[in-house]
Amino acid sequence: MSILASVSSLGKVTPRQLKILSKMGILTVQDLLKFYPRRYLDFSKFTEIKNITLGETVTILVTVKSIQSKLLWTTKRNMAEAVVADETGTLKVLWFNQGYIAKQLKAGDKVYLAGKVELYNKTLQMTNPIHELVSEHPLHTGRLVPIYSLPEGLYNRTFRNLIAKALPLSEQLTDDIPVQVLQKNILPNIAKTTQELHFPTQIENVRKAQERLAFEEALVEQLAVQTYKLWLQENSAPNVSPDIENIKKWLKLLPFELTQAQKKVLWEICLDLEKKHPMNRLVMGDVGSGKTIVAILTALQIIKAKFQVVLLAPTEILSKQHFDGLLSSPLFNKFKTLKVGLLTRSFQSVNGETVTKKELLNKVKTGTINLLIGTHALLESSVTFKNLALAIIDEQHRFGVNQRHAILEKLNKQDGQASWTPHLLSMTATPIPRTVALNLYGDLEVSVLNELPQNRLPIKTWVVPEHKRLGAYAFIKQEILQGRQAFLITPLVEESDKLQVKSVKAEFERLQRTVFKDFKLGLIYGGLKGEVKDAEMLKFKNRETDILVATSVIEIGIDIPNATVMVIEGAERFGLAQLHQLRGRVGRGQYQSYCLLFISEKNDSSTAYTNELPLLTNPPSTDLKAEKQDRLTFFAETRDGFKLAEYDLEARGFGSLFGTKQTGFNFKYGEFLTLKVLKSAKASAQNLLEEDATLNSIPALKKRALPLVDHVHLE
Ligand code: ADP
Ligand code: MG
Repeated sequence: MSILASVSSLGKVTPRQLKILSKMGILTVQDLLKFYPRRYLDFSKFTEIKNITLGETVTILVTVKSIQSKLLWTTKRNMAEAVVADETGTLKVLWFNQGYIAKQLKAGDKVYLAGKVELYNKTLQMTNPIHELVSEHPLHTGRLVPIYSLPEGLYNRTFRNLIAKALPLSEQLTDDIPVQVLQKNILPNIAKTTQELHFPTQIENVRKAQERLAFEEALVEQLAVQTYKLWLQENSAPNVSPDIENIKKWLKLLPFELTQAQKKVLWEICLDLEKKHPMNRLVMGDVGSGKTIVAILTALQIIKAKFQVVLLAPTEILSKQHFDGLLSSPLFNKFKTLKVGLLTRSFQSVNGETVTKKELLNKVKTGTINLLIGTHALLESSVTFKNLALAIIDEQHRFGVNQRHAILEKLNKQDGQASWTPHLLSMTATPIPRTVALNLYGDLEVSVLNELPQNRLPIKTWVVPEHKRLGAYAFIKQEILQGRQAFLITPLVEESDKLQVKSVKAEFERLQRTVFKDFKLGLIYGGLKGEVKDAEMLKFKNRETDILVATSVIEIGIDIPNATVMVIEGAERFGLAQLHQLRGRVGRGQYQSYCLLFISEKNDSSTAYTNELPLLTNPPSTDLKAEKQDRLTFFAETRDGFKLAEYDLEARGFGSLFGTKQTGFNFKYGEFLTLKVLKSAKASAQNLLEEDATLNSIPALKKRALPLVDHVHLE
């Protein structure tokens, strides 16, 4: 049988199950094998009945002494009731609503049972255990058991049976990674990886298999970014020498002095611009570290040298904020000939005067506009430049790696086919430890703004215990009555977007009806249309609403200096870097600001089994509650985003970096990534490219990597 055969050829698949599977994207046996477990339960160790600890999940190997089905009057459903025994004792077993089990098992059968044992009426009793007839190759008990995240209507038991049938075909899987690369990095091949992920022989092998998945993903990514880097090195860009005289003049106009970090980064950029090849630099700097002015000073130099600049931001409000900010700055007033354009879906303006889109595009094309600011609207094919030499991308992590590359490609379609590629300056407020960033962004040079301007009032951060909730609400009211505003972030709901929306709406309604009924509340969440979101944001900015209830979507760099309180519910569910981003929404004006963190009342120990194996490479500490508290306390005391990111990385692994699209990388197996794996993927990519820069000898990897850099044509 071929691995490309339909899953239905595995036999015993009902039409209904087939439908569910196809909805999950599983059509062929191969698709099935690539659907990996979410977690594992350790049912591999057997406990004798006499050694059972009450309340603990155990696996026992027993003989059925008697079994029958009974109608339970209270539920009108059948249950199965059995007595089982091993050499050391006897146990009662109940299966509620599963009377059919009495037909599957009979007295004398040897079975594995896995479940919790409690004491009822002085007898030991196991309720609703997982059962399986003893065999040489058990699937559901007596081993490390895979648990899949399945939609309703499809049971893990059914799925495991299918996987077990399909697994021998895993030998047919073609491995995208060359065997030498696997050997060099001591990683299992794809067949072994697949087998160990589904039915592990030991947990270490699961780790190795997971590591391979992460490695593969990182390798593809690294091949892409490094190919891109090589390509850039073959391209030319207009070289512009540092304009020290003018920079000095401009700096005198500013109401503040640049921080040392700003000066250093500006200089790093200047040195890049002087080279004949396109710059590709990322400036990482905490919220409020002053990235914008560094970008503007860079832009002005380019403009002085008679080239055009484009500044791309992920949202309309942010674009408008940059535009308005520049027009009202002393730099703009001094620079008499400067023409700044704004291009978004709803705004088209030159130096603050509304123009038609056509006029604007024409002015860009003829070179009248020196600096064009805008959103994705900039990337439309109708936008062409006369001599674009610098592209600045703000909040670059919002654009994703391939988008980042596509942006340059699109912008590069200059009038009268350009003979160069523009310099690219990206900015992000996502702090990633420098060592990680250097390995991750294989194509980018990285600059770090690791210093905040002196004039800031530090935000006071408190972890608020539940019993002080009302006091916290009173505090927020007081702030609002003094004219300030507050953000309130609802907990992350990971299960589904639908539930997330439901929860944010519920919280909004609850607060509006009860605690804050005398105030105006706004509501904003991910699923809302862009316009609606922007409108709601503007209302808040214009102080038409007092409290903005939101999911974490508001993390984007919007400036609302009047907001002084950031309340985060379920704070323990967020990564520290993300909390930090949220906290950065306040403390932007002259007022003292506050960040209040609440921990969810429901704790995470809701899993039914006490022997669940942690999925992460770095297992979380067993004392979840204390760990949460520690993390948040550390957060409350720490203002440096890079330190927070490092803490997260150590405590929770790379999943904390990739879980939330914070990095622009959307690694499916990011939680299995480690710095070691990342480094080895980078080195392997380098080796492969050195051997053969066309990547033709590794066609499968080439096919996956190239779409990420699709404008780079390899021959
Ligand atoms: P971010 O890095 O988050 O994009 P911004 O560039 O928006 O930060 O800067 C935040 C605020 O700090 C702006 O109002 C800006 O004018 C101001 N600012 C920038 N650099 C300095 C500095 N060296 N000293 C004081 N204020 C500064
Ligand atoms: Mg910014």
